[in-house]
Amino acid sequence: MPDMFDTPTREIFWQVSHQWVFYSLAFVTSVVFLWGLLKSVRFIRRGTASSVPSIKKLGIGPTIKDILSHRSLVGEDTSRYWHLLLFYGFVLLFLVTCYLMLAHYGCEDLFTGAPYLFITLVADLAGAGLMLGVLVALIMSRQGTSSERERIRAKRGMLLLLGVVCLTGFFVEGLRIHIKGDTWQAWSPVGAAASRLFPSLPGSDGPRLFKVFWWLHALLALGLLAWIPRSPRLRHMLFLPFNRAMVPVEPRSPTPLVDPHSLRRSNPPPGSVRLGLETASDATHRQRLGLLACMECGRCERLCPAFQTGQSLTPRQYLRDLREYVGQCEQQGRPPGVEPVASATQAITPSSLWACRLCRACEELCPAGIEHVPQLVEIRRAEVLGHGRLPDEGAGALRNLARTGNPYGASPVERTSWIQDQRIPDHPSHDSGKALFLWTGCFQPGDEQKPRVLSCLVALLREFEVPFFIPQEPTSCCGDPARILGEEDLFQTIAGEQIQSIEASGAERVLVHCPHCYTVLKDVYPLLGARFSVIHTSEFFQGLIREKKLQSKGFPHTKSVVYHDPCFLGRYQEIVAPPRGILASLPGIELRDPPRSGKQAYCCGAGGGHFFMDLDLEERPSSQRLEEILSREPDTLAVSCGFCFSMFDDALRRLPDPPSLRVADWLELLMEATVGQKG
Ligand code: SF4
Ligand code: SF4
Repeated sequence: MPDMFDTPTREIFWQVSHQWVFYSLAFVTSVVFLWGLLKSVRFIRRGTASSVPSIKKLGIGPTIKDILSHRSLVGEDTSRYWHLLLFYGFVLLFLVTCYLMLAHYGCEDLFTGAPYLFITLVADLAGAGLMLGVLVALIMSRQGTSSERERIRAKRGMLLLLGVVCLTGFFVEGLRIHIKGDTWQAWSPVGAAASRLFPSLPGSDGPRLFKVFWWLHALLALGLLAWIPRSPRLRHMLFLPFNRAMVPVEPRSPTPLVDPHSLRRSNPPPGSVRLGLETASDATHRQRLGLLACMECGRCERLCPAFQTGQSLTPRQYLRDLREYVGQCEQQGRPPGVEPVASATQAITPSSLWACRLCRACEELCPAGIEHVPQLVEIRRAEVLGHGRLPDEGAGALRNLARTGNPYGASPVERTSWIQDQRIPDHPSHDSGKALFLWTGCFQPGDEQKPRVLSCLVALLREFEVPFFIPQEPTSCCGDPARILGEEDLFQTIAGEQIQSIEASGAERVLVHCPHCYTVLKDVYPLLGARFSVIHTSEFFQGLIREKKLQSKGFPHTKSVVYHDPCFLGRYQEIVAPPRGILASLPGIELRDPPRSGKQAYCCGAGGGHFFMDLDLEERPSSQRLEEILSREPDTLAVSCGFCFSMFDDALRRLPDPPSLRVADWLELLMEATVGQKG
């Protein structure tokens, strides 16, 4: 039992002479740490200036909540829990060490009585938590695939080092209790348990062993601290919070525009226009910060359709190569413009660059808030605008778009005759501000799905007496294929014309169904001066349901329906609940979710221009996705995008024994359940 008159405390440097050596080493550690940090900051500052979101749009609050709770790892395996143990263990032990140094330098009261007991307990529990986190992380790291071997080896090395630092700390504590005894050892339960591991040590053997462990522990801990700014696995603790806070709360930042005026200038001086990410010197401050924030955890690969179908793109390796490439260019003093990013690294090759679907699944799973897509689009842009390099099929789509205003090269006749067949007014008959401008997008020759879905939309609007119109002009596409294929000049030309036409019609609200058109009209057109508002069909009809204006009769027989989220709606726009809510409200529909859904849905493989280019080797993302959808045994697959429809239709046809599955847009189901006739 502790003597009630015995004051709880202990000597901080018990048995340790030459304390100046420790403080000198701590000083050297601080210098090495700060030097590494300074080098990283200089790496960021050497980049091209990039726009910073306003303080209101910065995600500071969500970042703090994210870091404290690790909620961005929700739904993961155990990694959220073991990383929480590592995080809190490391932070608390670091704070305790600083506190001890302060107490040793003249504030001994800080380490006497209740504060001593509290600090002792906190340090003991933090160390135990850290050890437990290391153990679980080591066990879980065995689950990696063979392609992840190198990454897992590096991760294990770092975990082992952390574990040894902790273990030697407990040995130091245990030896002290074992040799000297401690009336208050109940406040360091793990240290007390460790003291029982040692046999009785004769004479000076105990203190000698204590000194060995003490110095070993101190050297390893100081080495670890000095290594933080240099190791990708540790460095994230310095840069991740800043990078994450730079991600605007919403919407996801679109790829920045090339300055429209500089695009139009004739003969701009070489190097005066930044077309995209062409060479190391084009990497912006923000992009460089992201390169340092990446901890190489590999989460970005889990939902990546390119990586999961065995293509050469791996978002993790791509970031690592980009960081090394930029660093090497600067070290070797290579002049900018010598070696394009797109072919100077192992991971960023022309084939990996064009394998990307721009689906943003990597960004969704990245705990560091890295935005891969704007970088990849910028590399594509530099390739296309600067060198005219892109896959042949993509070049064909761009030629069609420039020639006819339609990436399929279709004449406007199909669209015009559909509008006439439907007897749709080409100008607002009511007050122009109230009538909806119904955006159709471009028609593909021979495609029956798009006119069918648009006819359902028209029938629904008529059923609920919503005033709308479709002008004969504009007839061309929104320009999205040009933007994602890197032809920014063509995109801005098309977008400018479309904005002018929409505003000339007097419409204040544009109703859009295609998720790709919706994203461009809503998020990119405003950057070019558009002032109208853009509504997605799912949010529009959800509003009618909420107001009880839309009541459906439903289906006579129950349909089991699986809804697939398009990347550009679920992830880009976070429109996940409205289409589901509409389907779930229809009597006779039993709604099921596929295994990966919502913001973490697996891509159909059509994005990033792949609807126009067939670059898939053996496996296709659409076939993988169809397989998981079929595991839910639906009779209908509901989609919300014409590209998804075509990909799944094609994947079904490729099956040797296709099941009976109807692929339909949710608008078709809504129309059938409400107006009653099959759309
Ligand atoms: S998920 Fe983010 S932090 Fe992890 S490897 Fe990918 S980019 Fe880096
Ligand atoms: S955007 Fe999609 S395809 Fe491209 S790297 Fe990210 S996950 Fe992979």
